[in-house]
Amino acid sequence: MSEAATVPYWLDRAGAPARRPPLAGTVDADLLVVGGGLTGLWTALQAAEEGKSVVLLEGERLAFGASGRNGGFCDASLTHGLGNGLQRWPGELERLERLGRENLEAIEATIRAHGIDCGWEPTGTIAVATAEHQLPWLEEEAEAMRRFGWEAELLDREGVRARVNSPTYIGGLRSPGGCALVDPARLCWGLATAAESAGAVIHESTTVSSLAAEGEGVRAICPGGAVRARRVLLATAAFPPLVRAIRRYVVPVYDYVLVTEPLTEAQRDAIGWRGREGLSDVTNQFHYYRQTDDHRILWGGYDAVYDFGGRVTPERDGRPATFSLLEEHFHATFPQLGAIGFSHRWGGAIDTCSRFSALWGRALGGRAVYVVGFTGLGVGASRFGARVGLDLLDGLDTERTRLEMVRKRPNPFPPEPVRWAGITLTRRALARADRREGRRGPWLRTLDRLGLGFDS
Ligand SMILES: Cc1cc2nc3c(=O)[nH]c(=O)nc-3n(C[C@H](O)[C@H](O)[C@H](O)COP(=O)(O)OP(=O)(O)OC[C@H]3O[C@@H](n4cnc5c(N)ncnc54)[C@H](O)[C@@H]3O)c2cc1C
Repeated sequence: MSEAATVPYWLDRAGAPARRPPLAGTVDADLLVVGGGLTGLWTALQAAEEGKSVVLLEGERLAFGASGRNGGFCDASLTHGLGNGLQRWPGELERLERLGRENLEAIEATIRAHGIDCGWEPTGTIAVATAEHQLPWLEEEAEAMRRFGWEAELLDREGVRARVNSPTYIGGLRSPGGCALVDPARLCWGLATAAESAGAVIHESTTVSSLAAEGEGVRAICPGGAVRARRVLLATAAFPPLVRAIRRYVVPVYDYVLVTEPLTEAQRDAIGWRGREGLSDVTNQFHYYRQTDDHRILWGGYDAVYDFGGRVTPERDGRPATFSLLEEHFHATFPQLGAIGFSHRWGGAIDTCSRFSALWGRALGGRAVYVVGFTGLGVGASRFGARVGLDLLDGLDTERTRLEMVRKRPNPFPPEPVRWAGITLTRRALARADRREGRRGPWLRTLDRLGLGFDS
């Protein structure tokens, strides 16, 4: 493992664009977008296509944050899954599911319209059970999926192993619709080119250090210059926020990933998995895994780490104890792959909020809107988040802006040190529940009643 590269696999491939030059001087725009991940890029593209003059500033490189580090599961869900949606927005979940389905279709249509080569594979998913007590969960999930119009096929031990051969599987739930796999970095790069074709201007290596109201608009200050914009959309996810409110709602939670060496034809035969579905298990501490187009397996999840103070720093991108655990779990799942090596390992910060889905807020008297909090399921939802953010900045009254999910913000996290203590207690309680056949203890039941939670 020590020889594995510590850069995200997606950023370590051919096709990375040259760095766009940093901002120099002062420029004017209708809209300034801060952050060059999926949320910022979807905002820039949609706004430029509406005819707005758009400047996007990214402090590092495009896809530097979670958008270049994720598993590439592009899901239709806007609510971090049906279970969470049912718990929090039962009255509008049907609408949210329809909007999520339309959002996924619009992502695919954009990729096709702009010829974005990002390995889009509408494979669907299989959730796997590895213990008896998880089987009823799959049944419940299948029932909920069918209720909301999704196809769901329950698989028994033989059925699931016929699709993907692991001695740990005892059941599965296959959902062929609702999720595509994608190379998220190539998606970012393609969206950037599309946004530029529509007139947007993108600068990398340009960190916005402050924002202030100026007249009817906003002035953003960066080391090399400034942007005077009528409106600003903040898409800075888990990074140190430019407006204080974000810090109340969002904590950076680190998630870690391994990628194997390419599998040989014999190794591929040994595991089956010819449907190339996105896989995950159904425990609180879950793994997600998928194949890449060059026949590697990306294997991530399990630990979701919050460190006291919630800083986002490069040192946190590696965590040897988590990498070893992930490696051990991988070999237990696919023992037939023997001692296959890992070519890449990395970590990234997830913008976690207490309701596990995007949240929107206004700052600077409505001149700025922030869209953050996707909590580990933002690859697809980022486009919807961006669309709503633009609606809010334009003061539009739409089906989207009338959603309770959009109008109401989640419960904030308490300040430190209670924040760290609460999250640590919750992580331990979730791990304990996994060891006790899913039974939730008093702490988790209290949080459930309060609508508070911790997930990745
Ligand atoms: C390991 C991991 C696995 C994941 N797996 C999945 C998955 O399989 N499916 C899924 O749906 N989601 C997944 N996610 C979550 C998903 O990646 C995110 O929800 C999504 O990418 C969020 O995009 P974003 O643009 O909001 O944030 P980011 O991609 O984090 O972008 C924020 C950007 O803002 C920039 N920035 C911050 N501050 C400033 C500033 N002051 N000035 C200029 N630029 C600034 C940063 O440099 C960064 O590039 C995963 C996340 C991680 C970390």
